[in-house]
Amino acid sequence: MQFEYQNPTRIIFGTGTLSRLGEAARQYGTRALLVTGGGSARRNGSLERAIASLKAAGLSVVECEGVEPNPRITSVRRGAALARKEGCDLVIALGGGSVMDAAKVMAAAFHYEGDPWNMMAHGQSERRLPERALPVITVPTLAATGSEMNAGAVISDEESTLKAVVSAKCLYPKVALVDPELSIGVPRAETAYGVSDLITHVTESYFNGIDGTPVQDRFAEGVILTALEWGPKAVSDGTDIMARELVQWASLVALNGWVQAGTQSPFPVHMIEHSISAHHDVAHGAGLSAINASWMRFAAKRRPERFALFANRIFGVPLNGPKDMDAAMEGIERLDAFMKSIGCPTSLGELGIGEGLIERYAADTLLVVHDLEGRLPGRPAMSEADIVEVLKSAR
Ligand code: NAP
Ligand code: FE
Repeated sequence: MQFEYQNPTRIIFGTGTLSRLGEAARQYGTRALLVTGGGSARRNGSLERAIASLKAAGLSVVECEGVEPNPRITSVRRGAALARKEGCDLVIALGGGSVMDAAKVMAAAFHYEGDPWNMMAHGQSERRLPERALPVITVPTLAATGSEMNAGAVISDEESTLKAVVSAKCLYPKVALVDPELSIGVPRAETAYGVSDLITHVTESYFNGIDGTPVQDRFAEGVILTALEWGPKAVSDGTDIMARELVQWASLVALNGWVQAGTQSPFPVHMIEHSISAHHDVAHGAGLSAINASWMRFAAKRRPERFALFANRIFGVPLNGPKDMDAAMEGIERLDAFMKSIGCPTSLGELGIGEGLIERYAADTLLVVHDLEGRLPGRPAMSEADIVEVLKSAR
């Protein structure tokens, strides 16, 4: 195992920490672009509280409302133009993964020469990663993506119906101000989709990483077991603050690089899901739970020992040898049953998605990311026909 790891984001975690936003922001700027989504932050009062804290610390605020779920490049362009016009020197994201991702790319677009879509991986030859960005502070209001403490962002382009990823050092937020109380009002469905997303961040590296990473395996198992225990509590009683805290923390840890360090893992299920949500605008976590088990059954045939280990360690399934395929399949079914029990779809049909565009999703996935042989990176690497097979059996 060989790796380098540096995550510079400072975490301020805890119920009530929203009141410290101004004090944290003051170190990075004086005029903040405050990015929010479709209105939840306004309705639940967190927007007003954020502005009050910023103003009390002497900052001025330019509001940028209306980032949509599965955020669009048009919103990124709008936010970056507003930040330039208003002379902002700091970007603050108050919202879910969509708001945080859009805000990060706005911050980079502020300095970027050319169109920000050129930062994203979408098969074009002129791709250029951003090297500078305005400082960003993330304030998540929903536990799911871990975007608050990582260098990634996922943006959609309506014109090409592609959803693509950018990851660059300059996109690490300066501060992740994580106040789990802000997620109290997240509806049941979105809470469950967040649990699906966070678990998948960890299973991706568990199943696609290199061999010989036992410390990372145990980190991953800890995150999954925590989500299995506390996720249903957050779903069934949104006001359970301990459940909200633990799911929020688990979601952050799931994708801030601690679990992934050294695993060299690609994220094939994510890449396939992005093509689906680019076309149908479904919630990311719902798209993942719809296809995850189908991908796992496909991958388990090639790497049964890994899935048997998962079944045993996560669900206590007894093993009849290290490559026990029945146990491997049992683990996959148990995870799928869990997803169903918290209200996540476990087939594309439940999302109202038919077979019509399956070849297109596969082609789009490979357009966005492929290895030298044109396959989707993962264990195993997948051809277009493999992706089609997985999607057909997710119906
Ligand atoms: P989201 O798309 O940010 O938000 C989903 C919905 O939840 C929105 O309608 C939002 O409403 C609502 N919501 C958020 N906070 C709320 C609150 N406190 N109370 C009530 N409603 C609330 O969901 P997400 O799952 O966090 O983000 C998904 C996006 O992140 C996808 O585009 C996905 O591809 C991407 N992603 C990024 C990473 C990464 O590392 N960067 C990783 C995985 C996924 P409002 O719009 O009104 O606020
Ligand atoms: Fe995700």
